[in-house]
Amino acid sequence: PPAVRLIDVTKHYWSKEEETIALSPLSFYVSPGEFVSLVGASGCGKSTVLSLVAGLLQPTAGEVQIFGQRVSHPSPRVGYMLQRDCLLDWRTVKKNITLGLELSGRFNHHTENHARYLLTELGLGHTLHQYPAQLSGGMRQRVALVRTLALQPDILLLDEPFSALDIQNKLHLEELLVQALKGRGMTTLLVTHDLEEALALSDRILVLTGSPGRLKRTVEIPEAIRKL
Ligand code: ADP
Ligand code: ADP
Repeated sequence: PPAVRLIDVTKHYWSKEEETIALSPLSFYVSPGEFVSLVGASGCGKSTVLSLVAGLLQPTAGEVQIFGQRVSHPSPRVGYMLQRDCLLDWRTVKKNITLGLELSGRFNHHTENHARYLLTELGLGHTLHQYPAQLSGGMRQRVALVRTLALQPDILLLDEPFSALDIQNKLHLEELLVQALKGRGMTTLLVTHDLEEALALSDRILVLTGSPGRLKRTVEIPEAIRKL
């Protein structure tokens, strides 16, 4: 089965008696190991799609599946990284990257070593005992990436993970992501405003239109222009 599948998904939000139709109806799939980007104007429902796949929201109608099973709650098979790094300032880098493992009951020598290995791989081995406040924005975002990858998810959800960074840091982190994903067979769904980034990283780009969010078109990216 596809790693991710949306079948006629509709999502309505209600707040202060106002109804927003965020998605209507949206269908697409992502194959195992595929890297797919979601692009489209602000408000077209990209983050909503990721929250649904992450099991943080339920669709109003239709069905969201991962590996052929309906998503009814957050799954340890899915890792989610946001634009805000959400690091805990009172915990060291080491404690930040192992928090998810602890919370999901998977903290042990093996997973801890893997987390430290990833940190070194992303050039942050020396920051293990530092606190997030001591790190630059780019470094913090790298720590956040390690924290997500440390959970060894089968599906990686990235919501504008690099857009708060300057161009230098952004390109560096893209390179590191490419390296980190290489050979791991992870399925990735990236939300981005940055078409260049989508072109460099994706197998396919899904273009959404807004009000309410629908699939406008799907663009296959030729291998020749990809970094992955
Ligand atoms: P994007 O990620 O493409 O910017 P979002 O998925 O964040 O789009 O939002 C899609 C639409 O749903 C927007 O109109 C947004 O204002 C609305 N929306 C998102 N989250 C909520 C919420 N929690 N309550 C009410 N409306 C929301
Ligand atoms: P982005 O455009 O980067 O996806 P947003 O600023 O649209 O992010 O949304 C940030 C957060 O606010 C999300 O958790 C989203 O669900 C929530 N949100 C967005 N629009 C609304 C809204 N109209 N009412 C309530 N919450 C919203």
